[in-house]
Amino acid sequence: MSNVVVLFGKPGAGKGTRLSELQQERKDDFEVISVGNLLRSERKNKTHLGRKAEHYMNSGRLVPDELINEMVIPAIKASTRTVITDGYPRTVDQAKAMIDAGECPKLLVFFDIDDEVVVERAKQRIVCSHCSEPYTTGEFKHPKVEGICDKCGGKLVRRSDDEEATVRERLEVFMNETLPVVSTLMKAGVEVVTIDSNIEGHAPKMFAEVMKRF
Ligand code: AMP
Repeated sequence: MSNVVVLFGKPGAGKGTRLSELQQERKDDFEVISVGNLLRSERKNKTHLGRKAEHYMNSGRLVPDELINEMVIPAIKASTRTVITDGYPRTVDQAKAMIDAGECPKLLVFFDIDDEVVVERAKQRIVCSHCSEPYTTGEFKHPKVEGICDKCGGKLVRRSDDEEATVRERLEVFMNETLPVVSTLMKAGVEVVTIDSNIEGHAPKMFAEVMKRF
């Protein structure tokens, strides 16, 4: 059984960016499971799962729980290091599946952010088409060379689900299907730490501090 830390928050709350910063500092300490990135890679490779996930992702809806649980739970079980999940669990049924599998998280880090901040950030977000590293055309985290990923040299593109209508749909899905995960996990004894993600520059320090325990 491994330690599991869940990164939780609305789409665009900065989970992926915080993870990338943490991995630069402490590359070998964690096993990272980023469900959105895994699904995007399945889509790119046109696998069976990728094809099934495609239309849910394009419309901002969640991919069915069974497909996600089958992909994530064995990966958590196989790890001997602390696992950080980004984008899992995203429904109460996924949270229950984790608990039933004996992989109840130790900690849930809640990146709290207002809807309007999310919509603005999505307009500015660009990601690497190869490794998914996130960047922004706004004030923070520019690539060194415009349009090119610092990490792997891949081309930077906008994510199709960052269009405003899709972002608003994803925020709605978050409120209805994902937020209830917090009370399910709290009832199971999971510790919850909240980090204010509205102010750029505040969350990185807070997150690094929280992760010192692992
Ligand atoms: P993300 O990159 O985490 O914003 O995820 C992108 C998309 O992948 C989401 O809008 C969902 O369609 C799908 N997805 C990611 N994680 C999950 C999950 N745990 N359960 C169901 N669908 C997911």
